[in-house]
Amino acid sequence: MLNFLQAENCLVCNLSAGNNFFRQSELLRLGVLENRKDNQHLLFLKRHTCKDCLSRLPLLFPKNTWCFDHTDLEIRALFSYKEPIKRMLLSYKFYHNIYLANWFAEVMFLAWQQFWLDHRKQAVIVPIPLGKKRLKQRGFNQATGIAELIADFSEITCLPDLLIRQRETSRQTEMRNRAARHTNLRDAFKINPESDVSTLKIKQENLTVILFDDVTTTGITLFEAAKPLLNQGLQVCAAVVATEHQMSDL
Ligand SMILES: [Zn+2]
Repeated sequence: MLNFLQAENCLVCNLSAGNNFFRQSELLRLGVLENRKDNQHLLFLKRHTCKDCLSRLPLLFPKNTWCFDHTDLEIRALFSYKEPIKRMLLSYKFYHNIYLANWFAEVMFLAWQQFWLDHRKQAVIVPIPLGKKRLKQRGFNQATGIAELIADFSEITCLPDLLIRQRETSRQTEMRNRAARHTNLRDAFKINPESDVSTLKIKQENLTVILFDDVTTTGITLFEAAKPLLNQGLQVCAAVVATEHQMSDL
């Protein structure tokens, strides 16, 4: 699978990532505790991230979880939505560069390995769904692409069909302000009655729902997606690749 990835190029800058010997201190910044040679995910990182790029990643570290005011939905983000992450996410989203999906999944799995292992068989991952029209335009759901890989690495079931976006919403980035964004998304999501796994089963098995998205700014999309799940009495948290939220504001 993905033979191209055998070529040892950095997926961040496209230059050679041939001779990478990351020191423990360099990996610690990413949250990697064990520098074991037989860790396939670490091997991937070494092959596809050069030393310079690793040191420049806009990681939210050590604090990368927060709750927005007046909610108790815990959100975790690995990166600030800054370069080169911004460019890489856009390239993945608009040109469907699957190598980047793989890079994001590997890095998120490595950095939060303990989190994923703690939730092994104790959670389900639910990517934020797109509306039908947007899905048709884009051809794929960028959140699902990454979430399915992480689910595979961590043995957590991915349920891309648990939620449905019941109406098309304008692009959040086109909304003028927070209030407009909120109105745009109010009650945009509902539980899919035809989902492979029912919310009743998730509740009976006491599983946590990990909502997954590529980027969050105000958190409104995540709150709205969490709403129908919380109404069913489920435990919900959220994980995103990157955020524009400023940790220092807290
Ligand atoms: Zn590089």
